[in-house]
Amino acid sequence: MSDNTFQASPIALAAPLPRRSRQARVVWRNNVVTVGGDAPVRVQSMTNTDTVDAVETAIQVRQLAQAGSEMVRITVNTPEAAAAVPYIREQLDRMGEYVPLVGDFHYNGHRLLTDYPACAEALSKYRINPGNVGKGEKKDKQFGQMIEIAAKYDKAVRIGVNWGSLDQEIMAELMDANSRRAQPWETRQVMYEALITSAITSAELAQSIGLNPDNIILSCKVSGVQDLIAVYRELARRCDYALHLGLTEAGMGTKGTVASTAALAVLLQEGIGDTIRVSLTPQPGEARTQEVVVASEILQSLGLRVFVPSVTACPGCGRTTSTTFQELAKQIDDYLRGQMPVWRMKYPGVEAMKVAVMGCIVNGPGESKHADIGISLPGNGEAPAAPVFIDGEKAMTLRGEGIAQEFQGIVESYVQRRWGTGA
Ligand code: SF4
Repeated sequence: MSDNTFQASPIALAAPLPRRSRQARVVWRNNVVTVGGDAPVRVQSMTNTDTVDAVETAIQVRQLAQAGSEMVRITVNTPEAAAAVPYIREQLDRMGEYVPLVGDFHYNGHRLLTDYPACAEALSKYRINPGNVGKGEKKDKQFGQMIEIAAKYDKAVRIGVNWGSLDQEIMAELMDANSRRAQPWETRQVMYEALITSAITSAELAQSIGLNPDNIILSCKVSGVQDLIAVYRELARRCDYALHLGLTEAGMGTKGTVASTAALAVLLQEGIGDTIRVSLTPQPGEARTQEVVVASEILQSLGLRVFVPSVTACPGCGRTTSTTFQELAKQIDDYLRGQMPVWRMKYPGVEAMKVAVMGCIVNGPGESKHADIGISLPGNGEAPAAPVFIDGEKAMTLRGEGIAQEFQGIVESYVQRRWGTGA
C-alpha cells in the first residue's frame, strides 16, 4: 500500500452528540436515579397488570426491573389502584427491589393523590397528562393540586403530552390563529406547536406553583416516526428540561421495534432524550420484558449504554443448512441474558464482554478473535466440531452434541476469572 493511499486527515469518528438538559432525580430510598444532564440515558417501562392486584403487579415490576428497567410506571386510575400502591411498594422493598415507581394519572389524579397520601408518598414520580387533567377553569386548579402534592413530597413529575389526548383548548386557539395567517401552516405543524406549547406552558405553570424545575421531565409523544423527530428537535431547542422519549402506540413485534428504533436512534444520536420507553404491544404469550430488551438494545447499539454482553452472530447462509448454528446462537444469547441479574452483582463490568457465535470458517475465526470469547462452527454440514477463541487465541476445539453446554461452562469460567473479585 503506497503512502498516497491515505487521505490528509482521518475519517471522523461517529458518536452521539452530548446532551444539554437539566438533571432531574427520581428517588426511592437509597436508589437515586438521575435523569438528564450527564446521567446515562435511562430505560423505563410500564406494567400491564391490574394495579389493584398488588402481588401480580409487584411481580411484574420486579421482572421489568431485573430485565434492566430503571423506573417502572404503573396505572393509578381508581381509588382501589391508589390504595394498592403502598402495598406494591412494600412488597418490592421486602424483595430488596428499590426500583422507583411512577404513577400514571389521567382525569382523577388530583383526587387520588389528595385522598391517598400513602400512594403519593410511595410513588417516586407522577406522570401527568395536561390534556387529561380537566376542562376550562378546573384544568389549572386540578393540575395545580397535583403539582402542590409533588412539591410537598419532593417528587419528580413528568408532564407527558400525547397527541391522542392533546389539550383541545390549546389546539383550537392555535388553529384559529393559524387561519388568520397569510400563509397558514399545515395542520400537522399546528399540532406540533400545540404539543410543545402544552408541555412547556404546563412546566412553567408547575414551576410558578413551586415545583423545582429539576424535578420536571417533559414528553410529547406521537405515533409517527417523522412527527416524533420533528417535535423533539423543536422541544429540545426551546427548553432545557430533561426529556422522556418514546414513540407512542408503536405497535407489535417487528413493526413496533423497528419504528421505535428508527425514531429514537435519530434523536439520541443528536443528543436529544434522557429517558426512553419502547411502547410495544406484546404478542400473545410474549413477555412484557421485551420492551425493556428492545430499549436496552437501542442504547447499547448506539454505544450510549452497556447492559448485557453483546453477542456477534452471523446470519448464517448456505454453509449452515441445518439448525445447529441457529440453536447454538440462541442458546448462548439466552444464557447470557439469563445470567445477567446475578452476574451484574457478582461480576461488575461483565456487561462489556463481547461474545462471537459464528456459522463457519469464512468469518468465524476473524470475528471470534475480535471478541473476548468466541466459537465458530465449521460450516459444510456443521459436523459439530467448533474451535473456541479466548482473548484472540484459539484455546480448544469442542466436539459432539453438547457444544452449547460446554461453551457456556467455558464462558462462566472466563467471566469468573476476568471479572470475579475473588471475594
Ligand atoms: S460466517 Fe460463514 S456461515 Fe456465517 S454468514 Fe458468513 S459465510 Fe455464512
